[in-house]
Amino acid sequence: MAARILVVDDNPDIAGMLADLLTLAGHDTQVAPNGARALERLAERDFDLIISDLMMPELDGAGLWRELSRRHPGYAARMIFMTGAQDPSALAFLRGTDVRVLRKPFTMVDVGREVRHALESSASASLSADAGRG
Ligand SMILES: [Mg+2]
Repeated sequence: MAARILVVDDNPDIAGMLADLLTLAGHDTQVAPNGARALERLAERDFDLIISDLMMPELDGAGLWRELSRRHPGYAARMIFMTGAQDPSALAFLRGTDVRVLRKPFTMVDVGREVRHALESSASASLSADAGRG
């Protein structure tokens, strides 16, 4: 299932690697270096899925999730977080939400599995999300 995916990470190596991998898998992929730039991309066009780092400058992953929960709840439900962080605030955020998490370092198999699961569950939830928009 091809999807429009936004990859958000301040590390250009990780963002580029993940974007290449998702593009090879047939997805339409864009990259943003932090949560603030991600919000700009999301204002320009729709995405099916957002894969985001947690620790980033300007607006971090938790901040992006909170902003989307407030403004676009449908998007908050379509996020996967990447983390290798031992940062207590990042771990507290992950414990306090039921977001999907991709643990760094991850393999191509891990990425494929998480993306597939997220797209399947958001497809089944899209009717109610669309009803809430507008
Ligand atoms: Mg980071």
